[in-house]
Amino acid sequence: MSRAAAQFKHDARRLTADLRHRQLIQTALGKYEVKRDEMKGRFQDWQAARQVAAETKWEAVNHLDRYLDQFAHAIEARGTKVHWASTAQQARDIILGILQDRNARTIVKSKAMTAEEIHLNGAMEHAGYTVVESDLGEFIVQLRQEPPYHIVFPAMHLTRGEIQDTFQRKLGDAPSDNPEELTMVARRVLRQKYLQADVGITGANFAVAETGMISVTENEGNARLTAALPRTMITLLGIEKVVPRLEDLALVLPMLATAGAGQLISGYNTMYGGPRQPGEADGPEEFHVVLLDNNRTALLARAEARDSLHCIRCGACLNVCPIFRNVGGHTYGTTYCGPIGAVITPNLRGLDEWKHLSYASSLCGACTEACPVQIDLHHHLLQNRRNASMARPSWWQKIAFKLFAPVANCRVLWSVLVTRGGRFGQIFHRLVKGTQLDPAYAWTRTRDLPPIAKESFKEWWRKRGESAASGEVGKAGGLK
Ligand code: SF4
Repeated sequence: MSRAAAQFKHDARRLTADLRHRQLIQTALGKYEVKRDEMKGRFQDWQAARQVAAETKWEAVNHLDRYLDQFAHAIEARGTKVHWASTAQQARDIILGILQDRNARTIVKSKAMTAEEIHLNGAMEHAGYTVVESDLGEFIVQLRQEPPYHIVFPAMHLTRGEIQDTFQRKLGDAPSDNPEELTMVARRVLRQKYLQADVGITGANFAVAETGMISVTENEGNARLTAALPRTMITLLGIEKVVPRLEDLALVLPMLATAGAGQLISGYNTMYGGPRQPGEADGPEEFHVVLLDNNRTALLARAEARDSLHCIRCGACLNVCPIFRNVGGHTYGTTYCGPIGAVITPNLRGLDEWKHLSYASSLCGACTEACPVQIDLHHHLLQNRRNASMARPSWWQKIAFKLFAPVANCRVLWSVLVTRGGRFGQIFHRLVKGTQLDPAYAWTRTRDLPPIAKESFKEWWRKRGESAASGEVGKAGGLK
């Protein structure tokens, strides 16, 4: 078992038993489904909208080379510098290089999961820069030195009291646990940071190939200030964020808001087309776009898994996932948690180390149903499981399947060893069931193991036929 798998198992066991934690998540997501369904009702046909959004992303991802080129040419024509980063290390080096060239000291950053993916904050802090998260949720988890808990709601696992306590300890200012007062505290701190910042870093929700523009969606206006006030702006995004046309945003922006947060549209939707142009009053003097691959092209090369690149990071699959709702976001131990994280992490970071995430699913399909771009998430999890078992089966799996195959293929062996042997074995199993001596302890410690039926269906059917022949169907338990 990999270290990540052992950690996952440990944390999942602890948090599943933590009723307070589960209650917090249920409360945080309590009204989500009601609001989401209300907003879905504002679409003329939500299922048709999903289909169009899926086709739009399919077109973008299947012609990624063309659309990325078009995007880069269009945005460079207005003075933006486009950088291509194959790996996380390259992306960090590019960004650190820009900071060094600008003699930057303070960096203000808006929410960007791609930055989490490449551990950008750690690299910048290590190099001596002061980095401040400007999204309120990210600001809170940064103060607590925690990673985001959820793709969209980074601090959803915290109570007001915990946030007040964090502000008191780290900022020395937390008049009450009133959310508005706490927001004002954060605002006062952040306004100063915006004014001091030399460089602003943002993520992006979409990159429009047709017009060469970055689209950023948010609810607080912090990304706008991050982009507008510092003299240099850097946008870091994955290469899969491209959409072909400007008009595609008319569909994907409301879908992102509806599926992710139960909103018809997010509070602020901004397009960035380059640095400040002559005659313009505001905007950065310099604009850099870093396009990150980091194994996305490897995913693209695998036709079976390719549609996982359609993801618009709305977080809807997390919100409905029974596993996420029990174990929480930090348990996954990776940037992208929940079903989409379980699908892409083994592909982006290595199947051997991360395959366990694909087993953390009940395969109920709620994620697939919730996904606005129709990613077949639960089937991708099955494919990951298949790939994992084919890639490197453990020694005990090899032996177990070697023994299982002849038994499963021979009716007599199955009947004698499994059915009758099982019935006999369960007499003694009762004595150790649920204890550490139980050979099925991994199962019985948390689940029931119902007894094997006294009579198999085949036996019952045979008996029924014999009884029917002798005119005693009813007595033998046949159909009445
Ligand atoms: S997989 Fe679908 S539901 Fe999950 S975050 Fe991505 S777009 Fe949203």
